[in-house]
Amino acid sequence: MADGLVPRPVPETAPFWDAAKDERLLVQRCTACGRHYFYPRPFCPHCMSDDVVWDEVSGRGRLLSYVINHRPLPPAEGAQIIALVRLDEGVRLLTNIVDAEPDPEALPLDAPVSVAFQQRGEYKLPVFRLVEP
Ligand code: ZN
Repeated sequence: MADGLVPRPVPETAPFWDAAKDERLLVQRCTACGRHYFYPRPFCPHCMSDDVVWDEVSGRGRLLSYVINHRPLPPAEGAQIIALVRLDEGVRLLTNIVDAEPDPEALPLDAPVSVAFQQRGEYKLPVFRLVEP
């Protein structure tokens, strides 16, 4: 199977992708205001402080919204669920839901989800699975 689109880390995102290789999900946190944020940036989008650190997070969250894409990009075969997930730490990630039926009946909003990782080239891509409440 093709690897599909592969991550291309830049200095600001390298810690995220390096941790994902080890199946750990990292999110940045501002030590000035205490809030997490995503996507990776060298400053806090809430208070503009550059006093930021990387935190390993649980990978648990909720399904906020999604679309079912019937013209998927590789490596997906068949319909692909493109989702917005809100982590328990409060940040939102644009991601895919995997191992779920691409059917709105199977994808209730606010459903609990947990991170999983898909190999993409030499990196791994964080994706999410539905979990039992
Ligand atoms: Zn801040």
